[in-house]
Amino acid sequence: MKVTAAVATAPEQPLDIRELELDDPRPLEVQVRLVASGVCHTDAIVRDQWYPVPLPAVLGHEGAGVVEKVGAGVTSVAPGDKVVLAPASCGTCTQCIGGHPAYCTKFYELNFGGARPDGSTMFRDGDTAVASNFFGQSSFASVTNVAERGVVKVADDAPLDILGPLGCGIQTGAGAVLNVLRPGPGSSIVIFGTGAVGMAAMLAAVASGCTTIIMVDIVDSRLEFARELGATHTINPRGTDPVEAVKEITGGGANFALDSTGVKFVFPQMVASLGTRGHGALVGASPLGTEAPFDIGTLLLTGLTVSMVVEGDSVPQEFIPKLIDMHARGLFPFDKLVKHYAFADINEAFADSESGATLKPVVTF
Ligand code: NAD
Repeated sequence: MKVTAAVATAPEQPLDIRELELDDPRPLEVQVRLVASGVCHTDAIVRDQWYPVPLPAVLGHEGAGVVEKVGAGVTSVAPGDKVVLAPASCGTCTQCIGGHPAYCTKFYELNFGGARPDGSTMFRDGDTAVASNFFGQSSFASVTNVAERGVVKVADDAPLDILGPLGCGIQTGAGAVLNVLRPGPGSSIVIFGTGAVGMAAMLAAVASGCTTIIMVDIVDSRLEFARELGATHTINPRGTDPVEAVKEITGGGANFALDSTGVKFVFPQMVASLGTRGHGALVGASPLGTEAPFDIGTLLLTGLTVSMVVEGDSVPQEFIPKLIDMHARGLFPFDKLVKHYAFADINEAFADSESGATLKPVVTF
């Protein structure tokens, strides 16, 4: 069938909106008509080839839509069901079986390989194969095919125009806090980066009952917004040493910390901001090969834990409905981060995310 898609063709070049041919869903695939898709920083860094996904490619990995067709072996959803799309995982490795599909041993090839496991791509542009299956979904297309394990069924009245980002950016920040750091009421936490991921982490920290919530960013308007949504303190590191400031606010170091920037020199700042036996998490992405220094002599004495967290270490079919329930009860107002754009304006959405003007752009079809 013919679909309209935004195609990444070269690093740092705008996506090109084209008509492509989409093939039929395979026996264990679900064909989904997209209603909306979030735009994540990871789409931009893959367009720019920090990770070598083959180009041309249809990116997009925060899709939400309605099931159009199902393959012969699909049992969990039917045409007409509303779904949020989640990253691909194999379902059979020890990590998947143990409830950690974000660490699936095939995660990289299934989500960044640019094709199905059998090497086929679902999109064609004339005779040219266009890389697909980005995060198992390639949601910058009006219709796409997704492995059954990558769809999360939601209620018939679910607001699909805001839910797509739960499949990546929002579950990444919220899951790092709720599934990995697990701060108790009264805890202190410092979060570096107030993009969509850092803000989702902040909303989860508020919901967890953290009473000292310090947000660090170089964009003042984002810090102001963080205060509106629950930050108790904000720091702009341009002019203030964030580590010293956190130590002063917390009386020696935070209980928990999160780095959503992926900036090489921020990771050591995040670690240095922790108090004794604190727990920090890295979620921000850096180019492969990026190294950050550690003073292991001093750190040994602190009893710290540092976790590397992918996709909030969630089981999407369990965690995304939980976040939707928390949102419905007013405990997780992630919709405040979203700004909508028409699909035709997708490059504007990328630019606004990059400049900091928009926290979580969502394109609607
Ligand atoms: P974003 O670009 O909107 O947010 C990053 C924020 O970091 C920006 O507000 C920026 O101003 C701030 N920043 C930059 N330099 C800083 C500094 N020196 N100190 C403090 N703040 C600084 O991006 P996002 O959508 O929130 O995503 C955050 C990161 O998470 C990206 O690297 C993205 O690729 C990554 N990510 C990881 C996963 C995962 O599974 N681990 C999933 C989704 C996204």
